[in-house]
Amino acid sequence: MTQQEQDEQEQQQVKLFFSRNLLEWYQGQKRDLPWRRHRNPYYIWISEIMLQQTRVDTVIPYFNRFIERFPTVEALADAPEEDVLKCWEGLGYYSRARNLQHAAKQVKELHGGQVPNDRDAVFSLKGVGPYTAGAILSIAFNRPEPAVDGNVMRVLSRYFLLEDDIAKGPTRVKMEYLAAELIPEGEAMHFNQALMELGALVCTPKSPRCLPCPVMEHCAARLAGCETSLPVKTKAKPPRPEERLAALIEGRGAHAGRVLIRQRPASGLLARMWELPHWPAPPAEGAAPSARLPEAAALDRLRRSLRTAGLSARPEEHWMAAEHTFSHIVWTLQVYRCREEAVLPQPLAAEGRVPYQHAGAANTAVQAGIQGEDSLYPESGVFLDGTPVELFADGNESPEDSGAIRWINREDMANYAFPNVFLKLLNLYFAELEGKPQ
Ligand code: SF4
Repeated sequence: MTQQEQDEQEQQQVKLFFSRNLLEWYQGQKRDLPWRRHRNPYYIWISEIMLQQTRVDTVIPYFNRFIERFPTVEALADAPEEDVLKCWEGLGYYSRARNLQHAAKQVKELHGGQVPNDRDAVFSLKGVGPYTAGAILSIAFNRPEPAVDGNVMRVLSRYFLLEDDIAKGPTRVKMEYLAAELIPEGEAMHFNQALMELGALVCTPKSPRCLPCPVMEHCAARLAGCETSLPVKTKAKPPRPEERLAALIEGRGAHAGRVLIRQRPASGLLARMWELPHWPAPPAEGAAPSARLPEAAALDRLRRSLRTAGLSARPEEHWMAAEHTFSHIVWTLQVYRCREEAVLPQPLAAEGRVPYQHAGAANTAVQAGIQGEDSLYPESGVFLDGTPVELFADGNESPEDSGAIRWINREDMANYAFPNVFLKLLNLYFAELEGKPQ
């Protein structure tokens, strides 16, 4: 036998050891998770989408509520989008929820409501990438498809001492071949979950628990003493900081005890979710990009932004700061209490619509030093009676898909889906209003 043949044989043994020991370990150690209690492809699909970027403990109550509210593909496909977003509220990455509903409609229309047991069909569902497709096909249908995510790449990098950069596409492809090779015949369902489970419970990112690890004996990184320096991963660019001014508009008269919320446009970041109106607040000239505007300038800019957006309110004082982090951007929201103004002929409508002016456009107007408020102020009365308006600063949006406004109290919050940061701010505000500590 040549040296090469001997090496290949050894490598084969190392792979067999890995697959066998991992499966045995999983049978004894697997967690009892709600989506593992039934082999329902729909449940598996929902759980896999929820688990992207989110911890298992966080997902469990969301999963249970979601399945109770939308027990079948058809129920999800036919639900109002607002209900789906409300059920997702707090989980973040809301495009997952929208894509999920879009894909449920695809499954209903093209596959009679049954999640397809077919690689191409699963791949064609909106929001389903290689990992999720592999997870659905293997866990629900026991098909020998790899399901390779960050956890799995970490385990494989360590066990096989692979120093390829896992942030790079070709590394993922290589890992998928390797993971597929490791699946024992007829065991895809258990093996893929075992691999995920090992990454989640034992071979964790910072402090892998090598001593109780079922594959320690042949783990190359452990034998070389370099398990904590793997996997190799180039750092993603840090999210860009962006200062924003947000308006907590407190109602008066008929709106006393309520605050004004606005709906985001139908596409883009946090599409169709509800929020306090807010706009970017670029720093003063010469200041650091993340520098907060001086108070007087912030109040002035917010007053102009409110006017530009057709919101008749006067900023009064800084209330608090809050952060919202996306993968590419971090908003620091400086929230100001604002009063609904009384000088106008009629108060803002309880339910109305204002232009969802893209913040950039509003800000450009402010930055350009447009002084005459009348020129920024919308046509007289247009925004005050709740009717749609035609005037959109950047021309990209239509009244149908953006800018709806509502006056809400705490109870009304149940009817609208908010990104986390606004959910927290509104809960704090209403608790403060009721004199309750939060
Ligand atoms: S021995 Fe340690 S580094 Fe290797 S797979 Fe197990 S936990 Fe991970």
